[in-house]
Amino acid sequence: MKRLVLKFGGSSVGTIDKIKKVANIVKKKVSEGNQIIVVVSAMEGVTNDLKKKSDLISKDFDNKELDVLLSSGEQVSCSLLSGALLNLGIKARSWLGWQVPIITNTNHTSSQIMKIKTEEILDFISNKGVAVIAGFQGISKEIRITTLGRGGSDLSAVAIAKFFKTDSCEIYTDVEGVLTTDPAINKNAKKIDKISYEEMLEMSSLGAKVMQPNAVQASMIDNIPIHVKSTFSEKSGTKIISESDIDHKNAVTGVAYAKNNAKVSIVGVVDKPGVAADVFEPLGKNNINIDMVIQNTSLDGKKANITFTIKREDLDKTLDLIEKDKEKLNYNKITHDDKLAKVSIIGAGMISNPGVTYKMFRSLADEKINILAISTSEIKISVLIKEDLTQKAVKTLHKTFGLN
Ligand code: ADP
Ligand code: ASP
Ligand code: MG
Repeated sequence: MKRLVLKFGGSSVGTIDKIKKVANIVKKKVSEGNQIIVVVSAMEGVTNDLKKKSDLISKDFDNKELDVLLSSGEQVSCSLLSGALLNLGIKARSWLGWQVPIITNTNHTSSQIMKIKTEEILDFISNKGVAVIAGFQGISKEIRITTLGRGGSDLSAVAIAKFFKTDSCEIYTDVEGVLTTDPAINKNAKKIDKISYEEMLEMSSLGAKVMQPNAVQASMIDNIPIHVKSTFSEKSGTKIISESDIDHKNAVTGVAYAKNNAKVSIVGVVDKPGVAADVFEPLGKNNINIDMVIQNTSLDGKKANITFTIKREDLDKTLDLIEKDKEKLNYNKITHDDKLAKVSIIGAGMISNPGVTYKMFRSLADEKINILAISTSEIKISVLIKEDLTQKAVKTLHKTFGLN
């Protein structure tokens, strides 16, 4: 007998037929004698629709009310799945975040899980019941509903695996596992059998959806192996595990992309200590995340241009803040471009394989793709390019690094 947590994403519970399919997967796991906790996301598209409704009221919709609104999608899917299980003759019950309770901090719309109470659910599952828990949501000490950031039911599943000390944490989705790139834009994408926490964290932070970055980080910290699988096929999926259990044959493990990038250049600021701090301080205080930064200085060393990238949705606010500080920053002009994408290659094998950087740049140059900015870490290289070249760039890099 094993204790399992099975998480089904929005794409796995997107229709009533899919919910019935999920109920059958759960039924099979029960018949094998396992103790089961299921975590569900909202039906596909539901959370986005709810968010659009709040935007129609105000783009600055109150965060605490937004959490009540967005978390409602999971209430629907978790009751439908519990009902479907009962219908198959399986003892089952739904739990919303506050009923468990899953206690989080008060950081609305991106809360962290502090504690999960386990007694009641442990009692239920050890008496052959299937506990169906709503993902993505919790409750704060102020007794207000919180959510864990978009894609956060992955994090719910990892935290449940930790607090309930489960034997495995299985993430079911609409693709076969973690692939070498997004199959939606490159049909040559291949399934990866094993990937390290570090590589997966880079992949998901750099745009590959499959797993929420915070969930990968949580699993890495507590060393909880993740098994990503398809709801719609029996294939073996991908194991996300410790680096020490992986042999890196290739320099590059995967290619990721994120389309929603914007670039801002502040042209002609005085080149003296403190300028970059003056530019970025108001942005930081307004929760605007800066990604890539490039600074170049004029030949006489007196003036500099500072270029940086942000999420497209932060562009208007960023421009407002910089314009407000025009006198202090004393620049000539600001330029911006909001139709950009970041394409990245990721692989722990890069550390021991020299020449990856030039190969990447050469293959993009051969396709006449201009690089606008670059950032690197030990296990990834990212380039900023024009958004309409994303697919071309992903395909060429995927081929160049032998992933086809
Ligand atoms: P879920 O509904 O299960 O939470 P997500 O939409 O969050 O699913 O993640 C699955 C999707 O992620 C896939 O349909 C796929 O298009 C996309 N994706 C992007 N990059 C990758 C990748 N490297 N491997 C697998 N899927 C990817
Ligand atoms: N339903 C939530 C979202 O769309 C959580 C999740 O899917 O994991 O962000
Ligand atoms: Mg997801």
